[in-house]
Amino acid sequence: IRILAVETSCDETAAAVLVDGTQILSNVVATQIDLHIQFGGVFPEMASRQHILTIYPVVESALNQAHLSLDELDALAVTRGPGLAGSLVVGMNMAKALALGSGLPLIGVNHLEGHLYSAWIQVDKDTPANPPDFPLIALIVSGGHSNLMLMKDHLQYELLGSTLDDAAGEAFDKVARLLSLPYPGGPSIQKAAEKGNPTAFNFPRARLEGTWNFSFSGLKTAVLREVRAFQEMGKTVPVEDMAASFQAAVVDVLVEKAFMAAEQYGAHHIVVAGGVSANSGLRKALTEQNRFEVHIPPLKFCTDNAAMIAAAGYQRYAHGFSDKLDMDVLPSWALS
Ligand code: ATP
Ligand code: MG
Ligand code: FE
Repeated sequence: IRILAVETSCDETAAAVLVDGTQILSNVVATQIDLHIQFGGVFPEMASRQHILTIYPVVESALNQAHLSLDELDALAVTRGPGLAGSLVVGMNMAKALALGSGLPLIGVNHLEGHLYSAWIQVDKDTPANPPDFPLIALIVSGGHSNLMLMKDHLQYELLGSTLDDAAGEAFDKVARLLSLPYPGGPSIQKAAEKGNPTAFNFPRARLEGTWNFSFSGLKTAVLREVRAFQEMGKTVPVEDMAASFQAAVVDVLVEKAFMAAEQYGAHHIVVAGGVSANSGLRKALTEQNRFEVHIPPLKFCTDNAAMIAAAGYQRYAHGFSDKLDMDVLPSWALS
């Protein structure tokens, strides 16, 4: 089954062609980081206008790189939400036009479902696929979400907990700004953290015992307080130590909760996906144990891409789902 997917939920214009949701024929991502860096974050109107400029060439090169024309495909998939409305609409309209012109079925995909199914994509041609087994615990940690979920089967999501305030990626982005590190914050903090001491500052870990929820705003405030203290004393802020200590606090909580949930629900497999799953500290902490089999997508599938939308779209297609051409985007679509 060959699926072309389109993703424009935030600031990446992306298209990809996959076979059976696992094998990549093409995966094109045009990032807008250079455009938004001057604002220190994503400027929504600029994002949608940039998608309009790049969506057609991106889709065209995804088809060209796959050496396929539309009539050789089986279905189309597109991100329906969650995301920025003005950005989602651009990909949605492109996908509808392709569906109308080709007569192919169109499948609307939840962006978080996409992040999750990135763990099913084959790492490369020579590495055999190693799909996770059910039941599994899924931890989606991205720019807008921190969801801990139980999956007993494909497309079945039971939300155990989520963030009460900032998402994990959002915390990285905000703390990076406090430390005057460039956008996007995750990669900048990771880079600074590599040269810092993770025990230099004992930042709070909000464990919220008895629940599976997360909270990162207290941690952010603690970093802010330390930064101010250094500034008031007229001292240079120890950016690297603060980045390392902040990252350690986030990693501790994420890893603890994921392992505890797996233990409690009898899951041997854990999937961790979304932009923050690219974090080297988190990846290390998740894999330096042998109690659970942890599936983390390769780096290029952690942040936004269309291959993951094709992977999730394939599962929906295989389970008989498709959508009508009058479907609307769903900017705050929860995964359930
Ligand atoms: P969502 O998926 O919730 O709609 P999004 O699509 O904007 O949000 P992603 O593209 O999944 O988010 O991830 C981007 C986020 O991941 C940003 O907050 C970014 O700082 C964070 N991130 C990216 N790389 C790293 C890293 N190496 N370490 C920590 N965080 C990272
Ligand atoms: Mg992005
Ligand atoms: Fe995302």
